[in-house]
Amino acid sequence: MTPFRARARSGAAHPRVLVLTTGGTIAAVRGSDGGLAPAVDAADLRSTLPSPLLERVNVEARALMSVDSAAMDVTSAYAIARHVAAASAGDAVDGIVVTHGTDTMEETALLTDLVLARGGRRRVRVVFTGAQRGADQPGADGPGNLARAVDTASGPAADSEAGVLIAFAGRTMPAWGTRKLSTVDLDAFAAWPDRHEAEQSRRRALAAVPGGGLATGSLPRVDTVALYPGSDAVVIDACRAAGARGIVLEAMGAGNANAAAVRAVRAAAAAGVAVVVTTRVPHGPAFADYGGGGGGTNLARAGAVFSPVLRAGQARILLAALLAAGVGHGEVTRAFTG
Ligand code: ASP
Repeated sequence: MTPFRARARSGAAHPRVLVLTTGGTIAAVRGSDGGLAPAVDAADLRSTLPSPLLERVNVEARALMSVDSAAMDVTSAYAIARHVAAASAGDAVDGIVVTHGTDTMEETALLTDLVLARGGRRRVRVVFTGAQRGADQPGADGPGNLARAVDTASGPAADSEAGVLIAFAGRTMPAWGTRKLSTVDLDAFAAWPDRHEAEQSRRRALAAVPGGGLATGSLPRVDTVALYPGSDAVVIDACRAAGARGIVLEAMGAGNANAAAVRAVRAAAAAGVAVVVTTRVPHGPAFADYGGGGGGTNLARAGAVFSPVLRAGQARILLAALLAAGVGHGEVTRAFTG
């Protein structure tokens, strides 16, 4: 590890990038139980960076946690987001890289974006990255992804307006609207294809959160419900009973359900539970188009709000953030749909 202080004393004008490690496959090796688990420490991850990059960029690596991202909860995601916000608040760094498991990278990256926006600061570039192959696997993609992330994070601060980024498989994408689409391909993530649409979606959401950002503290319970042919009201009702303040429906097609789901949504909305509709289809916007008693227009009339861009994982984080900020149905609608 090369502490920034040493560089500062040397007077070098190299950009300073802080790498915060959290675990995930990028740091994982196969253990004695046969399963991949994070084990590689921050210094060893840093040591995979190529010398020319380390000569150009002053990199400090620091471990925040060492977990599989599927085991993360709101507390750990918040801890990462707050750490990034604190590190970006002073003048100590020019860019921040977060190494993270790919399973839930899209959620933590979006939460971090929201927390940073609350501070109104965009001086540093924040870049998430990870890997599809463990550190001890042939053709491990972690070192290449980390190098690209550090290189991106060391770029001009003005470019950080796009919000939190994800660098993966040679591409750099805005975190907003990006989701994991492959369990095995090295090119695991897909950005929302229309960058302008994704940016509009992000701006709408940030404008709808009071104070331009996210209330600190814990997020309220928001559940995700996957709909399927023949699904009934049981799970939606159970979420309400469990105290969910919001429910994200992963609907079929453009955002369709059935009459039982529509009835359950109407009852949830009447009880003050916010319902957001997204789709299980990987591509294309979710929107209210079909009727017939269970279609998207029926869900909308029952009180549900459509999330055209954000899929369930990120929609859940945004909805929880909005509810934490105490906004009502109007703001939730403006945040997701405009
Ligand atoms: N299960 C791993 C994780 O999300 C997968 C990965 O990092 O690619 O931590």
